Amino acid sequence: MKPKGLLFDVNRCQGCGACYDACKKEFNNPVTSADFLKDRLSADSYTVVEEYGDIYMRRLCMHCEYPTCVSVCPVSAFEKTPEGPVVYDADACMGCRYCMQACPHMIPRYEWDSLAPRVQKCVMCHHRVVRGEETACAEACPSGATLFGDLEDLKKEAKRRLEAEPDRYYQHIYGLEEAGGCNVLLLSPIPFHQFAYDTALPKEPLETFTMAALEKVPGIVAFSSVFLGGMYWLTKRKNKIAREEREQNKAENDDR
Ligand code: SF4
Ligand code: SF4
Ligand code: SF4
Repeated sequence: MKPKGLLFDVNRCQGCGACYDACKKEFNNPVTSADFLKDRLSADSYTVVEEYGDIYMRRLCMHCEYPTCVSVCPVSAFEKTPEGPVVYDADACMGCRYCMQACPHMIPRYEWDSLAPRVQKCVMCHHRVVRGEETACAEACPSGATLFGDLEDLKKEAKRRLEAEPDRYYQHIYGLEEAGGCNVLLLSPIPFHQFAYDTALPKEPLETFTMAALEKVPGIVAFSSVFLGGMYWLTKRKNKIAREEREQNKAENDDR
């Protein structure tokens, strides 16, 4: 089977939430917000639709070609499959949360409310993909904004759209080269930093939180500063995750 992927196009998204609902249903995940547009990624929400004025952006695992979640996990709970999805074995997970700190897209979420907490994320519906089916979110999307297919075909289609309608598209395919490339590609009419996507990632793979990865952190040249820089990066990442979770809890309380 050729590697598969997803292409999400902001220009085609109606903000209907069918992808969000389909994902919840596929994985029997509970309702987490009265208004799906206010929901944020969590151990029960593997994807969300975010509202930016009159346009909508999805957020989900990018299924990196060289996933840092795979390379940092000490018990090999994550795996990059030949079909494209980065899958996760919840039974193997020991809850160390290294994957959360190492993910350049800040995707994995933790089961804070569980007595045996584990990490959760989108697995690109791997169980469906190996059966020759498209992902639940792509199947549910009424406008074709979320498209499932062969990754190489999706790359060609994304490039075709940029060339065919240059005035409608910001001229960048997010996910094509970020941190070595992803199996999820994004198109938008505006720059991606406006959706809080990290646009400063290197083009090279950030495969592991090792010397090679640390050297990509600006200003880190000597071994001691590599270590300090790594700790700084980790702390910053931890604080950002904690801040997001506080904001989400507050939003959920406000909804009640
Ligand atoms: S986006 Fe994060 S969780 Fe998803 S494959 Fe990449 S490193 Fe792993
Ligand atoms: S690919 Fe599957 S797991 Fe990922 S967001 Fe879509 S429905 Fe959810
Ligand atoms: S189902 Fe399609 S149109 Fe509806 S919110 Fe999701 S991506 Fe957008």
